[in-house]
Amino acid sequence: MTRMLESVTTSNELPSSTDVVIIGGGIVGVSAALALAERNIPVVLLEKGHIACEQSSRNLGWIRKTSRHAADVPMSLAADQLWANMPKRIGREVGYRQNGIMFLAPTEDALAVHESWLKSVDSLSLDSRLLSSAEIHQKVPGGKGQWAGAVYTPSDGYAEAAQAAPAIANAAISSGAVMVQNCAVRTLATSAGRVSGVVTEKGEIRCKQVLLAGGAWSRRFLGNHGVKLPTLPLICNVLRTKPMDGPTDIATGGPDFSFRKHQDGGYVITQRGGLDCPIVPDHLLIGMKYMDQLGPNRQLLRIKLGKPFFHDLSLGRSWKATDVSPFEKERVRDPEVNHGLNQEALANLRNAWPVFEKAEIAEAWSGWMDITPDSIPVIDHIKDIPGLTVATGFSGHGFGTGPAAGQLAADLVCGGSTIIDPAPYRFNRF
Ligand SMILES: Cc1cc2nc3c(=O)[nH]c(=O)nc-3n(C[C@H](O)[C@H](O)[C@H](O)COP(=O)(O)OP(=O)(O)OC[C@H]3O[C@@H](n4cnc5c(N)ncnc54)[C@H](O)[C@@H]3O)c2cc1C
Repeated sequence: MTRMLESVTTSNELPSSTDVVIIGGGIVGVSAALALAERNIPVVLLEKGHIACEQSSRNLGWIRKTSRHAADVPMSLAADQLWANMPKRIGREVGYRQNGIMFLAPTEDALAVHESWLKSVDSLSLDSRLLSSAEIHQKVPGGKGQWAGAVYTPSDGYAEAAQAAPAIANAAISSGAVMVQNCAVRTLATSAGRVSGVVTEKGEIRCKQVLLAGGAWSRRFLGNHGVKLPTLPLICNVLRTKPMDGPTDIATGGPDFSFRKHQDGGYVITQRGGLDCPIVPDHLLIGMKYMDQLGPNRQLLRIKLGKPFFHDLSLGRSWKATDVSPFEKERVRDPEVNHGLNQEALANLRNAWPVFEKAEIAEAWSGWMDITPDSIPVIDHIKDIPGLTVATGFSGHGFGTGPAAGQLAADLVCGGSTIIDPAPYRFNRF
């Protein structure tokens, strides 16, 4: 994971009871904790590793409406406002900059896909628009690539992932939330047919409601309680360069690279055309649900057979509250970095913008992501287990929407009005 991740000082003591327990200290869990604590609702967040140890510190930091499913755009619009107001709300900056996002189209066919996305969000009054090749070269000078055009959203942006979730966690703690790290939740406790607490590796906490924000572990946690959430893992590799002069502050995505300026002056780069796909038993169990999504994206996947499959099997699928759970067996998922993919990204980027010949790698990391069959998360109550709400399955684009997703989850836990219409995020759509 990135060396830049800020650590958070949390409690060593497990309270015996609270109103709401949140499982998972990623961007979604900490945002929900902040929203609840600000409403003076007693809340305890439990994290098996440390705050933002998985997806929420490893992402690229992009905060985008561009190319998002139309149903998911209202959440990103709500998130834009929350990001803009974040320094005031939590008392510090987290590197949020509305410098725009641009996705390049190498061919007319690729440009037609952007055009069709623009039509799909026509009623949402976004500032997204198509750019000509000349406009691309004017906005991102020094390029040698040939582009049919691009889609560009000036109000999109990015923030520093290594700071955001820790800063939000600290603000939640200041507002009264209790957080405990190195504390895996093994199972839910139920009584009279509803949630009555959680059993952790350090003991039990009684509570009225549980919010599961467990990222790519949520499927396994729910499966142990007989609830089938479809998510499959994919791994994205990232590198960060040392500070350098680059062509633009606009976050720019090509077909086989992307880059965005880090606040320290370097660039955060990935191979947009390649994701590691370690085959695990879940691919055999639910892979068919992904056929629609797979079609156009098949060439993205770098399939890996072998070790991950057997490692996944060794973690186990069912356990009791007295057993050591998978979440203790693997406290932080830290996939091996695929340096080959990172080198591809850098080579492709250098071909397109030769200024990156000067790029020197400062560090590299990778992270796994929880992908649902329609790439839209689940933020909903679980009807079969009253008292349980989930906010998970963010499908590789939940950092940007994280603050709004956490707030929506907190709203659902509280009952009453919600920050946006939760309909697109219903669990029963599967
Ligand atoms: C390399 C990479 C690049 C990405 N780029 C972007 C991007 O540019 N923009 C964007 O919007 N999104 C991006 N994403 C996706 C984004 O990071 C995620 O969608 C988002 O961080 C998900 O947040 P989360 O809180 O749901 O999950 P996580 O951050 O994974 O947090 C879940 C937490 O729950 C904990 N946990 C799980 N089970 C238990 C348990 N039983 N007990 C206690 N703790 C538990 C885990 O340890 C983990 O810390 C990227 C992801 C990756 C990996």
